[in-house]
Amino acid sequence: MALRQEVAILGAGPAAIATACALRRLGHDVLLIGVSRNTAVEGVSQRTLRLLREHGLAAAADSVGDPGERVGSWAGIDVAGNGEYVVQRAEFDRALLADAAAIGVRICAERVVRYERRGALWRVHTKRNYVDCQVAVDARGRRAQRSPRRGPALIAVCQRLCTPRTGRVFTRLEAIPQGWCWLAADGRGMSWLQITSGREPSLRLGLEEHMRRLVAMAPHVAADLSGAIATGAPIARAATPSLCTQPDQVGVIRAGDASIALDPLSGQGMYEALRSVVAVTGAVRGYLSGSWDPIAKFMAERAAELWQQSSLKAAHHYGQQAQQNPSPFWSEAAARYCAIQPAPPIAGGVSIDWRPVLNGARIELRRVVVTPQSPRGVWQVDAIDLPELLDFLRAARVTNVECAARHFGCPPAATARAMQWLSEHGLLEPAGPAGSTGPHGPSAGRFD
Ligand SMILES: Cc1cc2nc3c(=O)[nH]c(=O)nc-3n(C[C@H](O)[C@H](O)[C@H](O)COP(=O)(O)OP(=O)(O)OC[C@H]3O[C@@H](n4cnc5c(N)ncnc54)[C@H](O)[C@@H]3O)c2cc1C
Repeated sequence: MALRQEVAILGAGPAAIATACALRRLGHDVLLIGVSRNTAVEGVSQRTLRLLREHGLAAAADSVGDPGERVGSWAGIDVAGNGEYVVQRAEFDRALLADAAAIGVRICAERVVRYERRGALWRVHTKRNYVDCQVAVDARGRRAQRSPRRGPALIAVCQRLCTPRTGRVFTRLEAIPQGWCWLAADGRGMSWLQITSGREPSLRLGLEEHMRRLVAMAPHVAADLSGAIATGAPIARAATPSLCTQPDQVGVIRAGDASIALDPLSGQGMYEALRSVVAVTGAVRGYLSGSWDPIAKFMAERAAELWQQSSLKAAHHYGQQAQQNPSPFWSEAAARYCAIQPAPPIAGGVSIDWRPVLNGARIELRRVVVTPQSPRGVWQVDAIDLPELLDFLRAARVTNVECAARHFGCPPAATARAMQWLSEHGLLEPAGPAGSTGPHGPSAGRFD
């Protein structure tokens, strides 16, 4: 194969395929190198399906069946509602590949063995071939990262089962002292049981026995599975949440779980993998046409921010469960998440600084307003450049909305919102009523 490529995408999951498709649509020369071996069942929400369609992954979206009912309880409170779609990953990943092929992404269905720097290029090796590329997007999933930044150690043991064809699609979440059970039923005779726990001593007895012991602690799941017959052997999936902290390699961009792998309890892994595509695509294009440092900084800060936000949410959910059920698993996992504190607010309050931002489909350096709540900086509100607006208002010595709106060629309502944002952050005197169309509350446009 010994090819020379602009971009090589390593992996064959949602992050890899959505990135490959986005870059292909933007006219880039893309080769996807990956094989999918995921045979698990997972659940996705309506917003994940929306993202799939927004990324043009119609076959993948169509491969997902009807929404199911979510049942169960969390910390003693019922969690019914909020439809969840049951996804057979083998079928879904095949549909993703069909989407990629349909828009002209070239696919090399081989396993990546390693990659190495060769002059200004990266050489990606498979068992039989190699490819030289300017940019490598590593989207090989959570196993592609080694990281000291980890949440609680988790392992998910899963079993496919044959159950009666009830026509009822549902998922059930049930906590047990050692972790939690997630059951998905497609109504057509397939059920999937996933038990996530820490490193339980029962794991030494074999996966079947481990599952048998733990499911006995979950009466609702056990009742749903009464009469079910296991099909195939159980599998174990590494499920420890982690943030990749491997040093940046110039021209290697991490996407999806290879950058940040979330706790499966969140049920947001695929959503975040797909959501990262805009930033990853911007990083590839930014690097191909500019310098590396702002790209590396932007991607590292984005991942760190998501890690902190998701850890805070997890600390809350695990904490709720630990209060209800103070077993060592819940208490220790909650404490572990609590220890991942958000970065302290920056000293000195609000300032203007240069930061990498996502501008359309490209990452570039821009002046931003840095606040304690937004240490990565806010660049725009309603598509109005905040530092430029501030420069104009200060130079013109006005706080008149219509005057600023005319100068920027923007609607007065949008200009009023941007000015209100500046005044709320102490950078501007509140706008006078003259000419103001009345702000409708802040809508700070974040970078991603
Ligand atoms: C137990 C468990 C349960 C989960 N449940 C849910 C859920 O219900 N809902 C949800 O949204 N998310 C869930 N997730 C998370 C979800 O699986 C991931 O977040 C999501 O798939 C990330 O997509 P990705 O493309 O980054 O990685 P992956 O989907 O892992 O894709 C990586 C791809 O790279 C391929 N690959 C790996 N190594 C190589 C190599 N050397 N060469 C070539 N190809 C390679 C793999 O085969 C795979 O196709 C769960 C995760 C776990 C562990």
